[in-house]
Amino acid sequence: MALEGRTLVVECPCPGTPHEHDTVTFSPVLPMAGGLAVISAVRDAMRATDGEEMDNLVLAAHTFPVYLRFAIESWTFTDAAGHLLDRERWDALLPFGVKYAIADAADDLFGEEALSPLVGTTPASSRGGPTATSTSRSRASGSSPRSRSAPSSRAASAASEP
Ligand SMILES: [Zn+2]
Repeated sequence: MALEGRTLVVECPCPGTPHEHDTVTFSPVLPMAGGLAVISAVRDAMRATDGEEMDNLVLAAHTFPVYLRFAIESWTFTDAAGHLLDRERWDALLPFGVKYAIADAADDLFGEEALSPLVGTTPASSRGGPTATSTSRSRASGSSPRSRSAPSSRAASAASEP
């Protein structure tokens, strides 16, 4: 299974294996309802872990169904009659491994985008938690650089002029 741009190529899981492979194409952007649903799902996952370190499976349990519902634009899966599989029957007919791979790829594509509104808002549960000491994964690269040159030079010149 490989993600090529917005398209995931998977082994054909359809009845009778009529395709050489199948493809799932993700939406160009996450729909509004989908983004909010991901945020809500992550909140639920955080509540479920109660401030402990987030387990990837807990996160997946809450967010992956949301990705399957909102992040997919088109696909090539068919049913036993050869008709395009409608989304309502995905969960009943597609193997779990295929669904997991699709949601995992969606998480890679949209996870950061979906959670970007949460960056900077600190949930109360993480205050003083074990994550406070592990600062190795700093996101400082994206923050705006502080331009100190102007004020500091002004202060220095002011200090040198009595
Ligand atoms: Zn197929």
